[in-house]
Amino acid sequence: MTTTSIPICNEHRTLKEWQPTTFEYREDGISVRVPNVHAWVCPEDGEASFTPQTVDEIIIIVRELLEPAKRARERRSALTEYIVSVS
Ligand SMILES: [Zn+2]
Repeated sequence: MTTTSIPICNEHRTLKEWQPTTFEYREDGISVRVPNVHAWVCPEDGEASFTPQTVDEIIIIVRELLEPAKRARERRSALTEYIVSVS
């Protein structure tokens, strides 16, 4: 992490906290949630600011995961939620 100062929430004027949160991406009715991602989080409302490096890494994975999700939707599968993890 190369951040030199703690960001401040513009709305609440509070120092954000570096802590794990859930990254959520929505596109075309499909959502991909990535838990336990560290970000700067506002203690007032939980709004998270993800670093550009984190977004760059996650967006690659999200793009790939959207493909099987779209195919599942085309099959009108009754299974609508999938949890994938890497150890
Ligand atoms: Zn805030």
